[in-house]
Amino acid sequence: MSHSLVTMSYIVAAILFILSLSGLSNQETSRKGNYYGMLGMAIAIIATTSNVSVTAYVLLGAAILIGGSLGVLAAQKVEMTQMPELVAIMHSLVGMAAVLVGYANFMDSSINLIGVEKTIHELEIYIGILIGAVTFSGSVIAFGKLSERISGKPLLLPARHWLNLMLLIGVIVLGGVFLQQTESGDGSLPLLYLNHGGALPLFIMTFLALAFGVHMVMAIGGADMPVVISMLNSYSGWAAAATGFMLSNDLLIVTGALVGSSGAILSYIMCHAMNRNFISVIAGGFGTASGSNAAVVEGEVQPINADEVASLLMEAKNIMIIPGYGMAVAQAQHTVYEITKLLREKGKKVGFGIHPVAGRMPGHMNVLLAEAKVPYDIVFEMDEINDDFPHVDVSIVIGANDIVNPSALDDPNSPIAGMPVLECWKGETTIVLKRSMATGYAGVGNPLFVMENTRMLFGDANATMQAVLKALQG
Ligand code: NDP
Repeated sequence: MSHSLVTMSYIVAAILFILSLSGLSNQETSRKGNYYGMLGMAIAIIATTSNVSVTAYVLLGAAILIGGSLGVLAAQKVEMTQMPELVAIMHSLVGMAAVLVGYANFMDSSINLIGVEKTIHELEIYIGILIGAVTFSGSVIAFGKLSERISGKPLLLPARHWLNLMLLIGVIVLGGVFLQQTESGDGSLPLLYLNHGGALPLFIMTFLALAFGVHMVMAIGGADMPVVISMLNSYSGWAAAATGFMLSNDLLIVTGALVGSSGAILSYIMCHAMNRNFISVIAGGFGTASGSNAAVVEGEVQPINADEVASLLMEAKNIMIIPGYGMAVAQAQHTVYEITKLLREKGKKVGFGIHPVAGRMPGHMNVLLAEAKVPYDIVFEMDEINDDFPHVDVSIVIGANDIVNPSALDDPNSPIAGMPVLECWKGETTIVLKRSMATGYAGVGNPLFVMENTRMLFGDANATMQAVLKALQG
């Protein structure tokens, strides 16, 4: 393929990626967005590999076959509730790729640059490995936290902010030494096959960056995890862009920048949704210092059964459904929609209130509701409906906890203090579906469960919703 044809293909692929992102911003167009992305990627792969040797083709083909098969297997096996952890581990692979490409570039003796071009290339390698290593280790820890292999509780080391500062200074100083030694030829590490000047500072920096990624994510409390996920998403984009610079591949730079900036915007939206300051979240342990005396829940729980819930719903005119992570666990969305259809047929107004951080990944609830074919015009964002609760007769909270916790508003000691929540308790009656009195992801007690106008329907959300459906039909 000629050079200009490759460039043209890259431009077409970049446009398709932009169309893909804009398509993904809305449920109705998201399928189309995915197709644009797939087409763009196919064009990108064909254009990038068009001029390689036969041996490289065979190697690439084998790599695509192995990687693709693993991807298909993972996608088929993964449960909907495991999607967030799958996304986190995918981010770690982008980070690892940036580190490996960085080291491959560093060891590549066929690159013979001189002067300022050499310095720029070395800087690209250093920054690429730095971002890649932070993304890699941070994403692995995020995967551990989301899959509950690692406790969601923040690890708050004494003087942790000083530790972060020392790591940052260390990385900058090592960067200077790296550039010096690549000139002078010092600091090679023959034992690790790194027979190049500057290998030692590069190696130490990689280790520090890995440690920084681990420390950064370990210090973040459960409730702040959404910001970390979107931030790692952004980092993975910048890691890809850095790889693009190292490989002199314009499309990878553009794609990486698109992912990096959209991830950064998502982090901002998440911070805004949680009323958090981005720097405080990243510095770690925000809002967790006084968690020990947060939200001690005292009072009597009022249980309710499925038949009673059905009678309450039959009497209600205005009903709000608030889904949370437990709906994903129970896979109750289809039953919930059956109930919604039935109630709407009976002339009742039914809406869905979606909190921006409900579930375990951005847009989690929207995906579940779209899967169950719930019409988009009855699905509302928190800001659209939060003032309407005084007019709601019955709110049904399905496996949600932190996102309906009043202590976020009235307990300054709570780890989730300041986070806007769906204020369902302002309605006439709230029915909460969950299996026990256990806390949500942030580990905070919820005073909603003992409020006078709250009724608890205990059990797996799908089983209890099925029972309510039967009672309504009955
Ligand atoms: P929570 O994790 O706060 O609560 C979920 C509740 O669902 C639990 O209390 C659990 O109670 C209940 N539950 C679990 N399984 C079932 C089941 N089978 N049937 C019925 N109930 C069930 O979820 P929310 O959606 O309210 O809040 C999301 C939390 O996750 C926030 O803290 C948010 O910050 C955090 N987070 C969000 C991310 C995002 O991007 N959206 C990413 C990472 C974290 P029980 O065990 O008693 O049944």
